[in-house]
Amino acid sequence: MTDAIEGGCRCGQLRYRVRLGRLPNVYACHCLDCQTWSGSAFSLQFIVPEEALEVTGTPHLYERVSDDGTRVSRQRGCAQCLTRVYNTNTRRPGLVVVRAGTLDRSDELSIVAHIWTKRKLKGIDIPPAVPSWPEGAPPAEFAAALMR
Ligand SMILES: [Zn+2]
Ligand SMILES: [Zn+2]
Repeated sequence: MTDAIEGGCRCGQLRYRVRLGRLPNVYACHCLDCQTWSGSAFSLQFIVPEEALEVTGTPHLYERVSDDGTRVSRQRGCAQCLTRVYNTNTRRPGLVVVRAGTLDRSDELSIVAHIWTKRKLKGIDIPPAVPSWPEGAPPAEFAAALMR
């Protein structure tokens, strides 16, 4: 039971289970969009294949087309308590990006990478051994950092 990787919204209406053998590695994104979405200094996220995420409850869907019109972000959250829980993006088909702070065991997570650090707030210090990028990371490097 304690090994389960589960999470959900603040009110409990929207819950999920992640089918992974271990807790996911998470990354922080310090971009303006993530600060706005989260209301915080950065968003904390992990990426899993769509088939590894099992959702119960009714997600509310918000679709946002990127400013250049090339991709659509589909955000899912709880319509009751307004917790944002996960999203997909047409640029990354088959993958789901989950808000890591919604995991029940969020206190056990490790942040293994930081992106968009050029917008990082003063007072947040990234350990030198943790990979970070001033903007988005090159996909191969980013994948390697998350796999560690
Ligand atoms: Zn809720
Ligand atoms: Zn971001």
